[in-house]
This record gives sequence, C-alpha cells and structure tokens, in this order.
Amino acid sequence: MSSITLTINGQKVSAQPGQTVLKAAQAAGIDIPTLCHHPALTASGGCRVCLVEVSGQRALQPACTFPATDRMEIQTESPKVVRARKFVLELLFSERNHFCMACEMSGGCELQTLGYRYGLDHWVYPTYTQRFAVDASPPHHLMDHNRCVLCRRCVRACAELVGNHTLDLRQRGAHSMLCADMDVPLGESTCISCGTCVNVCPTGALVDKRSAFMARPKDVARVATICTQCSLGCGLNVVMHRGQVLRLESRWEAPVNGGLLCRRGRFEALQDSRPRLLEPLIKENGRSAPTSWNWALAEVARHLHHESPQQLGLLTSTRLTNEALALLHAIFVRQLRAAHRGTCDAAPPALPFTPCGKLTDIVASDFILIVEADPARDQPVASFFIKRAVDQGTRLVTVESRSTELTAFAEASFPPRDIAIAVDLVQAAAKPVVVCGAGLRKSEADLLQKTQPKARFISLVSGVNTVTAAALGLVDRIDPAACRTLFIAVADENGTLDPLAARIDRSAFVIAMASYASPLTERADLVLPMATWLERSGGFTNTDGTQLRAHAALPPSGQSRSDWDILGRLAERLGLDARAAKADLPRCDA
Ligand code: SF4
Ligand code: SF4
Ligand code: SF4
Repeated sequence: MSSITLTINGQKVSAQPGQTVLKAAQAAGIDIPTLCHHPALTASGGCRVCLVEVSGQRALQPACTFPATDRMEIQTESPKVVRARKFVLELLFSERNHFCMACEMSGGCELQTLGYRYGLDHWVYPTYTQRFAVDASPPHHLMDHNRCVLCRRCVRACAELVGNHTLDLRQRGAHSMLCADMDVPLGESTCISCGTCVNVCPTGALVDKRSAFMARPKDVARVATICTQCSLGCGLNVVMHRGQVLRLESRWEAPVNGGLLCRRGRFEALQDSRPRLLEPLIKENGRSAPTSWNWALAEVARHLHHESPQQLGLLTSTRLTNEALALLHAIFVRQLRAAHRGTCDAAPPALPFTPCGKLTDIVASDFILIVEADPARDQPVASFFIKRAVDQGTRLVTVESRSTELTAFAEASFPPRDIAIAVDLVQAAAKPVVVCGAGLRKSEADLLQKTQPKARFISLVSGVNTVTAAALGLVDRIDPAACRTLFIAVADENGTLDPLAARIDRSAFVIAMASYASPLTERADLVLPMATWLERSGGFTNTDGTQLRAHAALPPSGQSRSDWDILGRLAERLGLDARAAKADLPRCDA
C-alpha cells in the first residue's frame, strides 16, 4: 500500500499505513518524549508522557499507540501538550522517592531528563512519603521500589523478550506495586537473572549490583563486542569507566540476539577470580620461573621443530579467535602434520544438508522441533527465542533422551526411536524450524533430511568457535597419553580441559597457552600467557554460521598477548607466513 502523508508541527511527513504517530515522527527526526516506551517492546501507552494534539480529536492522544492516518495534523509541543506533559511528570515525581541526587542513575535517568526538559524545579503535590523495602535478594541485581514509576517496561521485557513471565504489578491505583511471581522476593522467584529488566528500566529502580554507584551514567564509555561464553556469540556492550569494566549491557542492534543476554553472558562472565597468568613461565628443576617472550617462543619452536608428527599433539579450546585457529591449523596441520589434535567440544553433527536457519527464524515459525538439544542449559538466549515463539502460538515438539527445561513448554516429547513421528509433524507445518544439538545421531540426521528444504535448520554446537575449529579439522578425539610433545591452547576456558592433565604422559613436554593458572598450566613445561576475551579482538563464527567480530575493551594484562599475536610470532619462528594462514579460514554465510 502506498505511503500516507501527515503534518507534524507544520512539517509534512511520510509514513507507512499502520505506523504509530511516534514511529512516523521518529522516522522524520522529530523528537516526542517517552517514558514507558522502549523500541524492543510493544507499546503500552501507559505513562502518558508522549501525549500529542491530534486535529479532530477532543483529547490528547499517546503518540506511541495512536495510528497515523493520511492528512492527520499533529502538534507535539503545543502549550496544551506541554501543560499536560508537565502535569504527568509532576505526578510521577510526587509518587515514591525521586530525590535524584542520591540515585545511582542520576545523570542517566529518563525521568530526571524529562524533569529538566520541562523545567520541574519543585514538588507541586505533596510527595509520597511511604518508604519501600529494597529487594536485593537476586545474586546480581536489585529492585528499589522507591524509584519505580510503574512503567511496566520490566514486566513486558520479562514476558515478551525472555518468555519468563516472572514480573507483574499487584493491586491497583496508588497501591500498585511491582512483584515477582506470587509476590515472593525476586531471589526466590522464577527469575533466571538474565538482567533484561535491568537494562530496560528507565529509572534507578532496577540496578546491576556490581556497578551500582561506581560512575555517573554520563561518564561511562561503551565498547561493542560479543559474548564468548557459548556458541551463539551474543552481541553486547562493555560499559567502561576510567579503564575499568563496570558491567555488561544489552546491545539492542546486535544481529544474533537482538540485545538479549543470559545470566552467564551478562553477569557471570565478569566474575572470574582465578589467578591470571601475566608473564611467560618456564619450568626449571620442577619449578616454574618467569622468562622472556623471546626465550619462551624460541623454546616452543625448538621443541615443535624437533618432534616427529606421530608424537606431536595439539589440544585446543574453541574459545580462540578465527585468526588464532587458522594459525594453529597452519602450524600443526599443514606445517608439522601433528598426528594428534582435538578439542574438549564435540564436533558439529555431520548433516547430509546445509543448515540455513538463524535464531530470528524461530520467532517467525509456526512449528519448532528440538532434537537432542538443551538450549536452556547450553545456549540460554536461544531458549528465550523458543519460549517467546511458544507464547505467540508456535507449536513445540521435542525429541530427546532426557527431559530439559523446555520439555514443559512442548506439546509433545518423543524418545529418539520415534523421531519419524516428529519429522511428519515438521513436514505438515507451514514455517517449521528444526533445532538440533551436538548429540544428533547419523540415523536422526538422515531422517531429518526429509524436512529439507522447507524447514529452517539450526545446529546448536557446544563450545564457542566450534564451527571454525571443525572446518579446520581441529575438532577430533585426542589421546594426550600418546603425545611426547603437546601444545595446549587452553585460552580462558573454564576448567573444561583440566581433567586431561592427569592423562598426559609424565615424560611429555607440555606447552600451555592460557589466561589463567590451572592444573594444566601447573603441569606445563612452558606457559604462554594469553589475553582474556575482554582483552583481545578477532573474528568468530557462531553456531549458525554468522561471522562476528569481538573488540577488545581492555589492553592485555601484564605481558599477556592475544591468541593470534602469540601464534603469529610462533609461526614466523617456524618459517611460516602468518598472514597467509588466513587463507585457511572457512567461508561462512554472514
Ligand atoms: S532478570 Fe530476567 S527473568 Fe529475572 S525478572 Fe528480569 S527479565 Fe525476568
Ligand atoms: S522497575 Fe523500572 S522498568 Fe519496572 S516498572 Fe518500575 S520503573 Fe518501570
Ligand atoms: S546465550 Fe551464550 S553467547 Fe548469549 S549471552 Fe548467554 S552465554 Fe553469552
């Protein structure tokens, strides 16, 4: 349908039929103030801050929900509108405690900004003097009811984006109060600590405990990067103040996750208290001693150079960048032809077709089949997309050996032997999505081929950059006991490689490239200190083949270096062209 034309503040504006007045104004660069509105959430028109004057309408209308029509005339800052908006703000400031100077959000609070914009310099109405408790029961965030303006952004975010439905308002009018479940403390509720509500709250009512009162919102900087805690690679912002990381925040425009983060990605990723490795170490007389990078790399090159391929092993984490994995391939596969190489993560299932689905396909689907995957445990943000789809009426069926958190959301769950029934259901659907995990068997993959090309297929691999590692032939079984020289790229792996330390031959020469001290680095004869995920930039290929780029928020600590930097220098010592190693990188869809 052709576009419509309306007039806002005397300016002709084009809009699409069905667009709200707010969207039409925003598209034309006209600012209408909002409070309960958030671009990632459905509009509710609850706070009345966005009221505008519409020709032919007796009352002022909320721009966030009022549909734009052809030849409509709008005034967004007329005296009548400003008077009404100020009245709304005066009421909001009079409820609860909005003594801004003592609030952690001062300088970044949307209510405070509106107060300045409309010249509120005193309380017109008697202020609400009742004090409310602060609910600090969740592990990572707190709820201060004194600052809440009951905009319901958090309620909508928890339901619409996360599909968790923990939050709601209880009672009515002046007695309205945000509550969790049947009014239990947040920490005892069904809250999964994803922090999405914290990120959408416009005031200081929901606060990240780690960074509370650490810096004024206007004094922080943000670095856009990706989470490397699982194979989704969710986009996020690292919030920085004076060179320190304050917290991790949603990046709403991120391609994979659209701003959603899970507890692991938003909070736990900053909680690593393991001792850092800050300088190269070499073992002398059974004790590790600091050495120089030059000496350490020369020793590594000497040992690798003199080892026979049959007794050389590479064990790598999949938390390495694309560039580092390509260098490992160039060094250990092409140059040294190491007979033993592998990771702690399972290889992606061998499929007789190419997976082509993205997370966003899940919410647009009418039928989801999950086969041998546990997204709520392994890739939590994927489970948010699935629960959202189920809320919207999408049917969910699982094929699984044991039940998972999502089993309760499924209309049917089949044991693996009955997968054919589920495949028939997929074929009968209009826009099906199949989500499979690393445990998919060959017989199941062959049966699922029948769902192609209709079904969008998403393979959820374990690990982080497993797609690239597998494409380079680095994901395999490895027996550490069979190696006389073993290079272990531990990276900032969370202990998953540690059990292998006990299986390494006592006489083997072990080189560990790692960020943190661990049983593996204790066993190592040479330790190369590596930058953490916050300290290095580089490419990643996520589980659905999307190419992503991580950006360093911090410089490498001590003498540690990025994975690709260490391996590039090692490659040069072995006579390889480090830049040419990039040719080994697989081509993946963007
Ligand atoms: S942290 Fe997540 S699950 Fe918990 S209440 Fe907020 S949005 Fe809901
Ligand atoms: S806690 Fe924040 S987002 Fe939730 S209703 Fe109150 S002010 Fe709005
Ligand atoms: S789902 Fe994975 S990538 Fe996304 S925030 Fe959680 S741990 Fe990080």
